[in-house]
Parts: sequence; C-alpha cells; structure tokens
Amino acid sequence: MAASRQVVRLRVTELNGNHPEKVNPHSELPAPELRRAVPVAPGTLIGFTTTIPVEVILAAGGVPVDLNNIFITAPDAYQQVSLAEELGWPRTVCAWIKGIYTTRAAHPEISVLLVVTQGDCSNTHALLELWQAEGLTVIPFQFPYPKDRERLAREIEQLCRTFGIETAQAHDWWLKLKPLRRLLRELDRLTWTTGQVSGAENFHYLISSSDFQGNPENYTAQVADFLEQARRRPHQESKVRLGLIGIPPIFSDLFPYLEELGAAVVFNEIPRQFSLPAESSDLVAQYLSYTYPYDVFGRLADIEQAVRERRLDGLIHYTQSFCYRQIQDRLFRQYLTVPLLTLEGDRPGPLDHRTRLRLEAFVDVLRR
Ligand code: SF4
Repeated sequence: MAASRQVVRLRVTELNGNHPEKVNPHSELPAPELRRAVPVAPGTLIGFTTTIPVEVILAAGGVPVDLNNIFITAPDAYQQVSLAEELGWPRTVCAWIKGIYTTRAAHPEISVLLVVTQGDCSNTHALLELWQAEGLTVIPFQFPYPKDRERLAREIEQLCRTFGIETAQAHDWWLKLKPLRRLLRELDRLTWTTGQVSGAENFHYLISSSDFQGNPENYTAQVADFLEQARRRPHQESKVRLGLIGIPPIFSDLFPYLEELGAAVVFNEIPRQFSLPAESSDLVAQYLSYTYPYDVFGRLADIEQAVRERRLDGLIHYTQSFCYRQIQDRLFRQYLTVPLLTLEGDRPGPLDHRTRLRLEAFVDVLRR
C-alpha cells in the first residue's frame, strides 16, 4: 500500500516537471469515494449535466440546476467555451461540455454535482474526474444500457440512499409533478395542433423542464399563465411544418430565422423528452419511457410517430461538432421517411451564412 502511494507521488512529480505552472507540487491524486452518502441541507444547489430523475433532488430538499441551461442562456456563453480552452480543454471536444465546466466554475455556490456517466457521453466521465480533483462533491448516475427496469430502479434507489431519503419520498414528488407534466403536454399539443404556441416558446418551456428553473411551484405558475394567454391567441397554420431532432442546438437565432422563412417547428424532440411526456405508472416507468439516454431505436420510434401524428414535412437534425451522436445521423437517414437536413454547430452564437442558405433552400423545397 505504501509502495503504491509512493509510485503515485512519483507520477505527480513527473507531471510537475512537464507543467510546473499548472500542478500543485504537493498535490496527491484524489481517492474519492463516489457512492458515499451526501446529505444535503435544504436549499442546496445541485447541478447536473443532463436530465436525471429530478424528483430525487426535490425530495432531498435540494434545488435542481441544469448546468446546460445556465451555460447556454448566459450572455457570455461563447467566452465560456474559449475560457475552457485557455484552461487546457482540447479544441476537439464539444462546446457543451466545455461550457458547462466553466459555467460551474463561475458559480461556486454549485458544489454538489450529479453527473450522468451512462446515457449521455463519455465526455462526462472526464468532466466528473476533473470536478473530483477540484474537491467538489460528485455523484454519478447511470441510465442502464440496454434499457432495463430493474437496473434503473436500483440506480434510482441508490441515488435516494446517497441523499439519505426513502424512494417513496421521490415517488411522492413524482405524483406532485404530474399536474405540471400535464400542463407541459398541453403546451406541446397547442404547438402542433392549433399553432397557438410557437416553436421557440415550446422549446423554451420544455427545455426548462429538466430543472423547472430551480423552483417547480413558480415554474408551474409560469406555465399555467402562459397557457392561459396562448389559448386566447388565434389559430395559426404554417405551410411548412418542421421537426427539430438531436441535441439542443447551440445556435441563438435558429427559431427566429425559421419563422422568417415561413416554417414552423412543431416538434422539438429532445426538449419534449426532457418534459417526460409519457403517462407512466410510476417513477421508474417515467424514466424508462424517456428516450434520450437509451438506444437510438427508441428515439427513432418516437420521431416516426411524431412525423405521422404532427404531419411533419421535414426534419432538421442538429448535430454538435465533436459529438458521437453525429454518427447516428446515418440511422436517421436510413429509417426516417421525410426529408432530413443535417446541421452542424460548434460554438454558441448566431447561424453562419452557409447554414442560413442551407435552411432557406430546405424550406423552399418543402414549400413546393
Ligand atoms: S453534445 Fe454530445 S459530446 Fe457534447 S456533451 Fe452532449 S452528448 Fe456529449
């Protein structure tokens, strides 16, 4: 044991030789225990890297914070990505993961982090390790692959144990959130049936449902108010009905530009999934029906159903530079039955000229 610790120290010393300015010469490798109990004081901010069973955080008295949402809505989102690169992150890693790293650093009040290490991507493993090395409290969560009810149930139980609560308490929150989830389904319905909710509004509310902006009560009131207003609007019918699939686009002006072209987004695949739209029999079933963290074929079935039900003329598949999910574009092209335009984005910001031209040509073709 003593010998292995010595070897570890030697390696750190070698590292110091290579990067004397970056590494604390006295640092030892962290030996964090990931499955330990993490009791949280009421109101503790708990950051997470993608949608997780938020009911567990709420039952533990924590405040859920989706790091993606605070990163992408920050006015300096672009600079956050550049800052990560200045800190040594590779250029060839996706901007989302770099952005959430520096965004968390800008919010030291978020020191408990729930990291999805199965069901998102392997970048989050390395992110988890960086946070461990920085002494933050990190909790891994794994969606089972392949999808499996027993394994998911065990993972949710483990998460409850970590926070020192009973699974029944998380289940109670699942019940409490049902009316809100119904409102979100209604909001989505008004997007594709009557057009009273725009694609941008749909995206905004559904994407925020991963963390309810930290406060489910306020968020429910906001959604209810919005729906009341939306129901009073006249019905809208667009000539070109689009679905947006893939991870949330990093572009800041995709929706206004599509509206300018006369196209309406009536299906936001992943934000809708974040709202957990399926009626389910319990908490575990709810997160089994959520398609994002499992195989692509579940997503394909969900998209295909939307194509038929929502009468979609075409799909835009957003892909992120350096994201493994780009590979799945091939399967979307192979299996989906409507025209599909693949867009790639890298950094936060407006659409580039070439992407605008491609969108314009795509909408023109669909309009004919
Ligand atoms: S965009 Fe892709 S690579 Fe980046 S964090 Fe998300 S899943 Fe991982």
